Amino acid sequence: MSERLTSVVIVGARGRMGQTLLKTVLESDSMTLAGAVDRTGGPGLDQDAGTLCRMPACGTLVSDTMDPPRGAVVVDFSLPGATERNIRRCLELRAPLVLGTTGISAETRALLKEAAKEIPIVSAANFSVGVTLMTRLAALAAKSLGPEWEAELFELHHRHKRDSPSGTALRIGKAVAAANGRRLDDVAVMSREKADRARTGEEIGVMSLRGGNSVGEHTLMFFGEGERIELTHRAMDRAIFARGALRAARWLTDRAPGLYDMVDVLDLGRL
Ligand code: NAD
Repeated sequence: MSERLTSVVIVGARGRMGQTLLKTVLESDSMTLAGAVDRTGGPGLDQDAGTLCRMPACGTLVSDTMDPPRGAVVVDFSLPGATERNIRRCLELRAPLVLGTTGISAETRALLKEAAKEIPIVSAANFSVGVTLMTRLAALAAKSLGPEWEAELFELHHRHKRDSPSGTALRIGKAVAAANGRRLDDVAVMSREKADRARTGEEIGVMSLRGGNSVGEHTLMFFGEGERIELTHRAMDRAIFARGALRAARWLTDRAPGLYDMVDVLDLGRL
């Protein structure tokens, strides 16, 4: 029996992630491209989505209008300024949404939660299967080690990344804090610039490095007395995010309304 094709619309199509998503969809036997969307103006609008991602022409042109056909899943990796409008459009059209854009505001996150009462949404700061698992391992380690082990986190990304710390670092930090009954907002130290004080027991340092073309690197360290544990994830190719996001799109088809994340897609269960 042939597998049903998942139909997707890629938003942010001209971007780094957009082009990787387009290529992954066009190379896939289980997906079809129902649309490619980017902002009004600039080069590449009306270009064939296939040639945009250095593949053979596919007949779908990059458009500035999001018009997903019935049954198609919207996969949005654009910029935070666009997210609110994209959520509202998905609501209007009852289109399931996979949201990868990071750095969205608290207001937009609130809108996302409201929208998820009516449409199914998968939102993740990092769609990599490896990072999803690392976040889970981080929580397990923090819980087993207890708060007396000091946790510090650093992340490294390419020079173009705008938001810092990365959404993934915040997610890992939240998991570590929550494992011992803390809130990251209460204990995070994002910079130690000119700090004339020693580290406190409960704080979690989150540091950002930017440069070169690193796709993304996260290292979590737990410091005990005379020993240290490090958990590291290195992304070598942004196709890992595209594969994860498209796996989420397949999983989301015919799902009930709700706000899901990669933990649900991978069926890792809630802690
Ligand atoms: P990019 O700057 O290369 O691409 C963004 C694209 O969005 C551009 O083509 C831009 O023209 C387009 N855009 C801007 N406004 C738009 C609008 N109103 N409608 C449609 N398109 C619009 O950025 P990128 O590196 O491709 O990353 C895109 C987003 O995805 C960022 O927020 C990034 O942090 C995030 N990201 C998430 C993951 C994840 O796993 N969740 C992984 C990588 C990147």
